[in-house]
Amino acid sequence: MDTNKKLVIGWFSFTCCEDSTILLTEMLNDHLTEWKKLIEFRYMKPLKSNNRIEGLDVAFVEGAISSEVQANELKKIRENSKYVVAIGACACTGQPSASRNNFVSDEINYKIAFYMCHFDYSKNVQKISDFIKVDDQVNGCPMDPKAFVEAVGKYLKLFNITQ
Ligand code: SF4
Repeated sequence: MDTNKKLVIGWFSFTCCEDSTILLTEMLNDHLTEWKKLIEFRYMKPLKSNNRIEGLDVAFVEGAISSEVQANELKKIRENSKYVVAIGACACTGQPSASRNNFVSDEINYKIAFYMCHFDYSKNVQKISDFIKVDDQVNGCPMDPKAFVEAVGKYLKLFNITQ
């Protein structure tokens, strides 16, 4: 066991409602004291202003990908992370964020036409594994908190931080 090493993690959000981020902040009420001893939160914009992407052990990625800019950011995260874990249904499957891919009503399509014309959105919203290799998934909408704690525990053991 390496008592000096901390698990270096990043938390990223793309196209989604960010409910897993909210859930994570709630979970910190119970886990922060324990996790602070074991984890370095190197990139977590909802919680801190000084964030760095370099040298992550694990990147947790929430949300689906809806633009080329996002796809490029995601690839950059992959390049800087030993492992990537998809968080929640939008990241794992694309849905429900990707529901606009299947809009058929003229009225709905008319309403989103403005956004599609004025912002740099891709034609389709896609899951993150369409762009990068994903090592693990924490499913749920929002994520299953028990599965997230298990995933954190798995990587703490993998990096020899806990037994
Ligand atoms: S998976 Fe559900 S809770 Fe998570 S971002 Fe998507 S819609 Fe929101």
